Amino acid sequence: MPCCAKKRAAMPLLTMLLAGLTIQPSVAQDPGRTLIRHANLVITMEPQLGDGALGLIAGGDVLIVGDRIAAVGQGLDGSGARVVDATGKIVLPGFVDVHNHLWQSLIRGCGTSLAVGDWLQTCVFPVGRLNVTAQETYAVVRLSTLDLLSAGVTTVVDWSHAFSPDFARGNLQALLDSGLRFAFAYRGRPEHVEDMRALKRDLIDPDSRASFQIAGVHPRMDAEVVNTLRKMSDLADEMDVKLHVHLLESEHERPQDPIRALDLAGGLGPKLIAAHAVHLTDEEIKLLASRGVHLAHCPLSNMRLASGIMRLGAIRAQGIRVGLGLDGGTNDTSDMFNTMRAAVGLQRALTRNPAAYPTVAAALQLATIGAAEVLEMDAHIGSLAPGKKADIVVLDPDTLNFAPHLDEVSQVVFNAQPSNVEWVFVDGRVLKERGNLVGVDAKAVMADANRAAQRVRPALFR
Ligand SMILES: [Zn+2]
Repeated sequence: MPCCAKKRAAMPLLTMLLAGLTIQPSVAQDPGRTLIRHANLVITMEPQLGDGALGLIAGGDVLIVGDRIAAVGQGLDGSGARVVDATGKIVLPGFVDVHNHLWQSLIRGCGTSLAVGDWLQTCVFPVGRLNVTAQETYAVVRLSTLDLLSAGVTTVVDWSHAFSPDFARGNLQALLDSGLRFAFAYRGRPEHVEDMRALKRDLIDPDSRASFQIAGVHPRMDAEVVNTLRKMSDLADEMDVKLHVHLLESEHERPQDPIRALDLAGGLGPKLIAAHAVHLTDEEIKLLASRGVHLAHCPLSNMRLASGIMRLGAIRAQGIRVGLGLDGGTNDTSDMFNTMRAAVGLQRALTRNPAAYPTVAAALQLATIGAAEVLEMDAHIGSLAPGKKADIVVLDPDTLNFAPHLDEVSQVVFNAQPSNVEWVFVDGRVLKERGNLVGVDAKAVMADANRAAQRVRPALFR
């Protein structure tokens, strides 16, 4: 098979680059048949499969065959299947995180009193001058992937600054080894185009869980920036992948006219994912809606960096697709429950209306099927329906932070924590089992990440 021959050819270089690290690919077992049986509640996110807008099934089962969901319902036949007893548990689709920077576990705790511009200058851009190796990048991204999986995130978009081709390789290899479903967004610069093509062809295209995006530079009305954006927009068209940029995160971007820059570069269309979009005018919201642009909402990051509050209600009212993003080192956590709470709470605080969008149900949609729609992957992920990929989370609500569980849907948003995530399946494979990540030596992973941080961080924390 040509795909696998290419993949093998790429491995010796990666093996060489990553020598000396604790590399533990998570994906090993044959997914086979698994029956998740008799959950207290299955939140399918498919209205036609159960009650209400979220398609709720009390006492429900989910049957997995291979990498896909074969059936969802009550009293399913599990003959020949491995049985996961979900009595008392809550089953829902794995979370889809549409905007993150996994290498930034390297800079956790940096610049915690800085706004976005100063934070970038202090904690992010200097890292590009420190020659972070493939091994170091692998180590910190490995840590982030495990943190995500442990918290119930099964799909992530990793917007990588890709400071060098080695950095990009270490970053990507950790994603490939994680078992996560992911899109690798490689920060596009003209001098890296051939490397972008090679990574996509050799490492991403052969892997069914992997996809590619082009991470665009910050758009602004500067001839060179617009020229670079145009090249990246054309490359995204040629590859038929998403272009993913940060947009109007800070009000200080307003004089740079980033939307005009994107439009001039040919980027303002349905292939665009724009992260943050905090400072949009009514006219700009209408323009983005008319062009079919999709948005990533990163409420914890916007809070931490004092960026402002996205006008989520006005944006959704125009029909723009929005998904939630954890946004790497700027929110300091991989906790999608916390992110949903922040999305709900910020809009209530902004509008002083407890029924403001997003409701509890809408928050769950923003973290699952709505996020899958942003990635145009909703035919495959984001809900529990026959034929979809078996990306599934089982929560244990019998814990001090959750019990007593009376209104379980609301409590998933308001009470749950990553520690409630008991099982995680991606592609039908068990990556977290009874509260433990499968085949992972977390102490070794942390030791590798700490070594990278010890070398790099003195340059940031002076
Ligand atoms: Zn970001």
